[in-house]
Amino acid sequence: MLRMHDIHKSFGDLAVLKGIDVEVRRGEVLAIIGPSGSGKSTLLRCINKLETIDSGSIEIEGEFLADTDENGVAEYADVKKAREILSHTGMVFQQFNLFPHMTVLENLIEAPIQVKGMKKAEILPYAKELLEKVGLADRADYYPSQLSGGQQQRVAIARALCMKPDIMLFDEPTSALDPELTGEVLKTMRELAEERMTMVVVTHEMAFAREAASQVIFMADGTIVEQGEPEAFFAHPKEERTKAFLQNML
Ligand code: ADP
Ligand code: MG
Repeated sequence: MLRMHDIHKSFGDLAVLKGIDVEVRRGEVLAIIGPSGSGKSTLLRCINKLETIDSGSIEIEGEFLADTDENGVAEYADVKKAREILSHTGMVFQQFNLFPHMTVLENLIEAPIQVKGMKKAEILPYAKELLEKVGLADRADYYPSQLSGGQQQRVAIARALCMKPDIMLFDEPTSALDPELTGEVLKTMRELAEERMTMVVVTHEMAFAREAASQVIFMADGTIVEQGEPEAFFAHPKEERTKAFLQNML
């Protein structure tokens, strides 16, 4: 579903990703953990081209979004092709990024109508079904400002799902929430995982990573320090840096 190979990315003199390899199979949940500044968000943002890589390759559903040419420089698919490839991805941010002047339902149907050219009548039933699924059917006509952070984030998840992505990217989706509101968002994400949605989740929620992920990656300083299945990863981390990090998270 997703294959990233030897990803390098710098911001000016600062090397942020130093040769990252990632593979995610259909139905898998990859959790990415690691200290602040290690490059987790940058890696996630490279998947949907919010950032561009310097070299390496990114393959989504067997199609190359970017590949390295003979000079070692990343070359991107043309705009039309890239748009098609990226239609497979949906993203949820730490700050929910809902359109403040639109109701919940309008937030959901905006992209399907504007980007996919769907008719309102076509997408409305699906949008309502998704609101039901995230437990917000009764909030369809509310504005984001009238909702709690947890509710807004669930709307953001439903909005991303409304584009029918094959892979969902989450960048610390609960980090901006009051602790008592993280549970409802994690529950929605767990349900998605149980339905075998392919997911890449940057998170500080170790319990979620342990229970919902099929694979865990620990990143530090732009490299993958350790990677494994959650059971083994959390019970018997091999690297000293992983051990120190996990100790701190307890
Ligand atoms: P994480 O998500 O793991 O906290 P980030 O990917 O956000 O890490 O950041 C990795 C490093 O890249 C940090 O040192 C950060 O300051 C830097 N960085 C991120 N985005 C930019 C940018 N747009 N311009 C310059 N530096 C950036
Ligand atoms: Mg980040």
